[in-house]
Amino acid sequence: EKQTITSIKKQIEENNVKMIRLEYTDILGINRGKLMPVSMIDEIFGDGIAFCTVSLAMAFNNDIVNSKYFSETNDDMKVIGDPSTFVILPHCDKTAFVLGELYYMDEPMLQAPREFLKKMVQEYHKLGLDPIAASELEFYVYNKGESGYQDPYTKQPCTCYTANKRIDPKRFLYKLTETFETMGFNVLYMNHEYYPGQFEYNWKHSKIVRAADESSVFKALSKDIAETNDLMVTFMGKPKNASGGSGCHFHISFNDIETEDNVCHDKTKENDLADVLRYFIGGVIKHAKGLTAFLAPTVNCYKRYQPDSFAPIYIGWGYDNRTTYIRVPQERGKATRMEIRAGSAASNAYLALGGILAAGLDGIKNKIEPPEVVTTDLYHDTEKQNEQVPKSLFSALKCLEEDTWLMEHVGKELVDVFLQLKRKEIEEYKKYVTDWEWDTYSYHI
Ligand code: GLU
Ligand code: MG
Ligand code: MG
Repeated sequence: EKQTITSIKKQIEENNVKMIRLEYTDILGINRGKLMPVSMIDEIFGDGIAFCTVSLAMAFNNDIVNSKYFSETNDDMKVIGDPSTFVILPHCDKTAFVLGELYYMDEPMLQAPREFLKKMVQEYHKLGLDPIAASELEFYVYNKGESGYQDPYTKQPCTCYTANKRIDPKRFLYKLTETFETMGFNVLYMNHEYYPGQFEYNWKHSKIVRAADESSVFKALSKDIAETNDLMVTFMGKPKNASGGSGCHFHISFNDIETEDNVCHDKTKENDLADVLRYFIGGVIKHAKGLTAFLAPTVNCYKRYQPDSFAPIYIGWGYDNRTTYIRVPQERGKATRMEIRAGSAASNAYLALGGILAAGLDGIKNKIEPPEVVTTDLYHDTEKQNEQVPKSLFSALKCLEEDTWLMEHVGKELVDVFLQLKRKEIEEYKKYVTDWEWDTYSYHI
């Protein structure tokens, strides 16, 4: 149901809301924002609230990068509430939440991940296509202990796809699901994943910006809810040595913008896949290496790409094949779609989905045929193994920079800041001596 400023004011009054959190997701995938009294409502939805542009160029270690496209003087941008995202937070007393649209010099801010995704959606609208997405987000939950959060929320192996009381001792997953359901999020289901303490949330499909909003807001707010339960959730690509990684698989399809019918189904074509989806897959595969920079944007993410991990090592596609970068699930008709399995839980949903759209656009516009479909186990079928997923963030960034189509369509303004932030991260990491090095070398050498 469409929200207007009037309907929002009514909800504020009826629910005795006192505070509003105005937030947006930065390039690293962190939600930034300001808390303000509801008396600011007209400013939030009117001229907007000024934020220093620095927040879009801040690295994990608090360093700031300078970009010739903005922030040389650390000036302001404007954040204006997007009424369609307004919700009252069930877990936060008398507080509402709204996502902001970012403007710089009165133009949409090109470095803002959500504005970038919206820009990519426009490209598809021009072709009469409305991109639809659903995410499957995995994450770990840890208990608070004396030395921080080290102890997994559940301890037993072999609990994958169980949903009983024992996998939710503090009813944390119950509270999460209830909170997001109350907020009108399209939660489909959750389950315990493969490793102790690991869970997965699945969303119903929706328009792609909404899908990105739901998974991005979920990340931010689940951390809040965990905190009040003395827990921590992490979406790191691979948080611990003993357990596997957390992915974020994206399911993508296209609706006709007028009729809203899924146009990916075509009975006259091989496996009933319409040209548009096949070409889209062709584009994603062509740009898969550079795209990986957005799907796996931290140094840690690359530790997730292991043989038999259900995360891809080789670039390829297959029908219901979980050993490839892209899987085309069995469902047809309205549910005809493709799944990108390379995405890490640590990816920024806006950048990942925007990057996927940019890659696929080349396929659709230039009718790129995907390579031969893979019907075997691509982790082990050496004959079918072709191109590899980049082995490190360093090499993924290089692939991105060499990919002229992606560079142009993602836009130099955003890529400039992204590459600088990520290269700083790599430099920090390279200097750091790990436990592995001490354990392996110190005694003998
Ligand atoms: N955890 C796997 C990954 O990192 C995915 C497992 C699954 O297929 O759900 O992508
Ligand atoms: Mg899973
Ligand atoms: Mg999946």
